[in-house]
Amino acid sequence: MRQRFSALFQDHEIFVRTHGHVRFVRVSAIWQKRVALIAGIVLLAWAGATLAVLVNQLLSSGERAAVAQQQAAAAASEARIAKYRDNVAETAADLEDRQEQLEEWSKVHFGVEPAAVTPEPHTGAAAPAAEQAPQKTSALIDPNLPPEAQVLARLEARQEDFATRLLTAVNERAAKAEGAVAKLGMNPAALVRNAAAGRGGPFIPYRGGKGRASSLGKSFAALESALFRMEVLERTLVALPSGKPANVLMLSSSYGYRSDPFTGAGAMHSGLDFPGPLGSPILAAAPGRVVYVGQKSGYGNVVEVDHGQGILTRYAHLSGFTSTVGAQVAAGQQIAKMGSTGRSTGSHLHFEVRLNGVAVNPRRFLEAKADVLEVKDDARQRVGSVAAVRDAR
Ligand SMILES: [Zn+2]
Repeated sequence: MRQRFSALFQDHEIFVRTHGHVRFVRVSAIWQKRVALIAGIVLLAWAGATLAVLVNQLLSSGERAAVAQQQAAAAASEARIAKYRDNVAETAADLEDRQEQLEEWSKVHFGVEPAAVTPEPHTGAAAPAAEQAPQKTSALIDPNLPPEAQVLARLEARQEDFATRLLTAVNERAAKAEGAVAKLGMNPAALVRNAAAGRGGPFIPYRGGKGRASSLGKSFAALESALFRMEVLERTLVALPSGKPANVLMLSSSYGYRSDPFTGAGAMHSGLDFPGPLGSPILAAAPGRVVYVGQKSGYGNVVEVDHGQGILTRYAHLSGFTSTVGAQVAAGQQIAKMGSTGRSTGSHLHFEVRLNGVAVNPRRFLEAKADVLEVKDDARQRVGSVAAVRDAR
């Protein structure tokens, strides 16, 4: 076959005679083959085009519709792919929003910068959930999804898992704080309600972003309200004045109705008295801001400290001040000196605790049990680390 084909194209020599001159032209076999090939291709292309026209003419209208349908299906699949690409971009944007929210919460509520975010090593209820998580997430992902969609689905599942574990941890903390706050004679539900209504002047750091989380899904909305509750209860716990205002013994029976030392008549005594040497250091009973330094009728020299959450402490009959208005003070920090100014019969501290402007017996705070103080210390550490991150920025 090959030999027969080659035999067709043999070198030819042609003599051409023009005006008496004879020229010699040589046509090689390779040249002949090339020309034949080009001619063949042109012929095939023409035949193909003719055939297409013919086929189209021969097709019935039904057959033509079928072809049109196939073409439409191809176009629709292209549109589906385009839509899927849009969805990927949309899903990725959602995931980014959620990640930002999680990082913001980590920073605001736990003082954790994004790079250092790790799931809290938690004992008890959170631990088994953490072990089950990988199986749960991989089972949720549709194996028919394209690879890049699977990546996003995995990310989303991990975010969900993280949010769920965070919610468990936050609820645990809030429950502990709730118990401690209740043991100190406060109403936790009322505290959260008041804070949500913007009363009591608490510093709730994430308030500005409120409402955003609900657009990020149910678990994020649940997490947002859990964080709010934890924040209110723990900050209240930190603000409650459980530190001794002076290193002397208190007259634990002095709060309430008693005979007035000046008139002898029955009168309400709105604080606790701490008798001690003149000039003894007077200490802030909780962290807060000094909001009053000066004289008040009957009280003599007074310092008042605002602890937030509607909690204020008043220190009276002072002989001198060691703090100024606006100063941030830590629990146990000296703010004044003991004295006997105002309506006082001898050197002592008159110590008052006011909740939303109403005097309450400070005893329950000063006599807080170890379990309550432990929860309070835990809360103080978290709130402190949040403040440290905020101040560092
Ligand atoms: Zn008093």
